[in-house]
Amino acid sequence: MSPLRITEIYASIQGEAAFSGFPCTFIRLTGCPLRCKWCDTVYGFEGGKDFSHDEVLAKVAEFGVHHVELTGGEPLAQAGAVPLMQTLVDRGYRVMIETGGSESIDRIPRDVHVIMDIKCPGSGMVEKNLWSNLDFIKPTDEIKFVLAHREDFEWALETITKHKLSERCQVIFSCAFGLLQPKDLADWMVADKAPGRMQLQMHKYIWHPRAKGV
Ligand code: SF4
Repeated sequence: MSPLRITEIYASIQGEAAFSGFPCTFIRLTGCPLRCKWCDTVYGFEGGKDFSHDEVLAKVAEFGVHHVELTGGEPLAQAGAVPLMQTLVDRGYRVMIETGGSESIDRIPRDVHVIMDIKCPGSGMVEKNLWSNLDFIKPTDEIKFVLAHREDFEWALETITKHKLSERCQVIFSCAFGLLQPKDLADWMVADKAPGRMQLQMHKYIWHPRAKGV
């Protein structure tokens, strides 16, 4: 089983997506092939520590929380992520993964809840979107657009229409923190009858927006 390079493992409140508000253990895998302009986890690009599969499972068991999320960085950039998810599912955890959408999601176990970004132009990474991933998104999964400005919002609406995304899965609109004001996004979504849900990153309102391990 491939070892995993990990930045941090911690328990907190899930701040995003369908399970927001639940206690959750987060496994933040080190490294990401992307460089989104507004990335809030640049500290996870390098460093970290090697963990065996069993060491990760032991740490997760210590926290004893039912929800477990793999995040990053980009979890799918490491070969050990898929077997880890399968073992967590087999042990009865509710497992989620946050992925940037540039790596194939085809090997993710069916029981894992996928939250996948589609990168907007304002991220600087739009050409990295792996569009074939849309073939593997389940109706219960979520696609997230992180928006830096009005142009991103309009691009997201066009993309949702073009790929019929709101018929395939849940769609989330989120603000790039500090770049787009929540009130502006709320106003646009109502005015344009946006086919999705707005989310705020709850943890950034509970703790300092740049706090780690929360
Ligand atoms: S995909 Fe995520 S971790 Fe990677 S650069 Fe973008 S925001 Fe940061």
